[in-house]
Amino acid sequence: MSEPEAVVERAVERLRPLYKAASLSWWDANVSATEENEQRRVAAELALSDALADADLFGDIATARANGAEPLVRRQLDLLHASLVPQQVPESLRHRIVELEASVESRFAQHRGEVSGRPVDDNEIKRILRESDDVAERREAWEASKTVGAAVADDVRELARLRNEAARSLGYRDWFALAVDTSEMDETRLFETLDECDRLTVDAFAGWKAATDARLAERFGCTVAELRPWHYEDPFFQEVPAAGGVDLTEVFAGKDVVALARATYDGLGVDTNAILDRSDLFPRDGKCQHAFCIDVDREGDVRVLANVADDRYWADTMLHELGHGAYDIGFDQGLPWLLRDCHLTVTEGIAILMGRLAQDAEWLREVVGLESADVERLEAGLRAAQAAELLVFTRWVLVMTNFERALYADPEADLNALWWELVSRYQLVTPPDGRDGPDWAAKIHVACAPVYYHTYLYGNLVASQLRATLDRVAGGLVGRREAGAFLGEQVFRPGQSLRWDRLIEAATGEPLTATHAARDIAVGLAS
Ligand SMILES: [Zn+2]
Repeated sequence: MSEPEAVVERAVERLRPLYKAASLSWWDANVSATEENEQRRVAAELALSDALADADLFGDIATARANGAEPLVRRQLDLLHASLVPQQVPESLRHRIVELEASVESRFAQHRGEVSGRPVDDNEIKRILRESDDVAERREAWEASKTVGAAVADDVRELARLRNEAARSLGYRDWFALAVDTSEMDETRLFETLDECDRLTVDAFAGWKAATDARLAERFGCTVAELRPWHYEDPFFQEVPAAGGVDLTEVFAGKDVVALARATYDGLGVDTNAILDRSDLFPRDGKCQHAFCIDVDREGDVRVLANVADDRYWADTMLHELGHGAYDIGFDQGLPWLLRDCHLTVTEGIAILMGRLAQDAEWLREVVGLESADVERLEAGLRAAQAAELLVFTRWVLVMTNFERALYADPEADLNALWWELVSRYQLVTPPDGRDGPDWAAKIHVACAPVYYHTYLYGNLVASQLRATLDRVAGGLVGRREAGAFLGEQVFRPGQSLRWDRLIEAATGEPLTATHAARDIAVGLAS
């Protein structure tokens, strides 16, 4: 065994059991949120984080990389290096960051804004913004959604300073540069792609928004110029107002959403039974309310947590999570442990590609069994709704990513003003008159999932690009075993043996581009 191989083996021996323990305790804490499970989860995560912070291990990896190794070993060393770099900061600083993050996160969980003197959670705020025709009440609900920002803003700013201190001690310009670099992205390329997304969506968004604003002005009996953030349905306007979508309530009522998802993957020749058997799929007290898929051991123990109901949202979510799962069980099991993994942009791309089927005409006909006439009636609306979602989401990511770059460039800047400048520019939303509050801090990702949002946008670009390839090589996706075989061979099997951007280029014949997503938007809006 060569010295570089020995370094990899030592690292894996150390990390593998810690990774599995952290995965299992994460699963347990989400399935049943007891005090004991929560303590075990924190302990397991700290143990993993301490191992990743080991300076001797990091030194061995750096030396082995510098001395050169054959490609698959080099690839493993690169992945190890990227996971260990962010942890190579003085322990006191690392722990301060972890503790402050945990404190901000728990304040987000506990904080409740108030409407008419009563505390309201996020669901209630969203309900008011969806249903209420009372503009004063809407405004109160929107204001309530921002109060958490004021409660945590000083600490979020402090987190940015601490993260910058950590990044600079490692030779990076700031935390933004470190985060992008250690996730195998290139900052110049990232902003070229974001600029491309901006250019390709700016006119379509302005047109769509003008039509939406006209409808909203009519609904609320005001002029378009009088519309403010609380006239939209999502507190950040990151989602399409329901009026712009298609109502599929009747279509999914009484349907077995899990069986539909299983049948969808069966149609691709992907057997998801092993995943579903280990999964926890229905609502229960004391259980996490969201959904996720986890690969516990990279040896086939893949599970989904969900809270399935018979509606479009959960159909989309089950298809989405099983997309992550199909990827995880599809790695070439002959690959080394470190390479039986995937990059976030690609696994999100697969999951988004599959989740989109819940609004796909062919899927509704072939898998759900809807009558052709009903599907035809819905088809144009479905395409338009998907296009609007992608459009609105793209503009929102432009706000988030540009804001985060500016935040880490200068945490002392006038962030309140900068936030509204970006919201006005990219989302075309008029700020409330004289607004000067830390509305940026009300978005939990800024504090707790820093420099991550662009991953969701990349996932959408990957989904559109893969879909175009599948249409070309397999004639589509739904019920096509050739499409499943293509994804299995070209995307799943290689795992992390090659970088995500090269994987996309190899699978689709071109580097990642926004043109396929832009075409999906144009086709949808034209229908
Ligand atoms: Zn996902």
